Amino acid sequence: MVIKVKVPRGTLAEDIVYHARALITGFKEAVEPNRLTIQYPRELRWVPERFRGWILLDIRKCISCFQCAWACPVNAIQMYRAPNGKWYPGIRYTECILCHFCVDACPVGALIPTPIHDVAYVDFDEVKFKPEDMSRIPEYVYDESERVIKYEIKDGKLLKIALPKEEITKRLEELDKTIEKSPSTTTAGSES
Ligand code: SF4
Ligand code: SF4
Repeated sequence: MVIKVKVPRGTLAEDIVYHARALITGFKEAVEPNRLTIQYPRELRWVPERFRGWILLDIRKCISCFQCAWACPVNAIQMYRAPNGKWYPGIRYTECILCHFCVDACPVGALIPTPIHDVAYVDFDEVKFKPEDMSRIPEYVYDESERVIKYEIKDGKLLKIALPKEEITKRLEELDKTIEKSPSTTTAGSES
């Protein structure tokens, strides 16, 4: 049986009031924007330095202790055996909840937290990061952005501040410097 639901209709006066309210809201937004929406990916939302995002691996520091894999609450870390006989971690971002327990558990600081949080992939396998994938920042991250949106509260008001894209580029360059590209990053290849 199909039940047809009737859409309640207001009176003409009510319709006029509703439309007027919608116009006033639109006008207020045009004069003094107070929304949190951004035009992603042309705009990016600024996140704090210690935001828990994508994780880098400094493979030269890793001592193959497996602590990160044991600490992971969702079993997102898989250890890969490298030709040099050592074992290095890879993260499956399909499972990772970005808790950074692995970062805290690492005794030598080989896992480096970053605020990168909006990496997109077209293929399921691409989200399964091997140790060598974790040793460099994804190349196309932030490519399309034109500016960064930062929110600040001042005198009880929400301020929307637009920063140039260079702010993000600067942050990525700093991250790049944190982990120098090294030939040793290519030694962790073979899956266990
Ligand atoms: S961030 Fe958390 S969920 Fe992700 S790999 Fe590390 S411990 Fe596991
Ligand atoms: S990344 Fe850190 S915790 Fe994980 S195996 Fe290497 S040294 Fe151990």
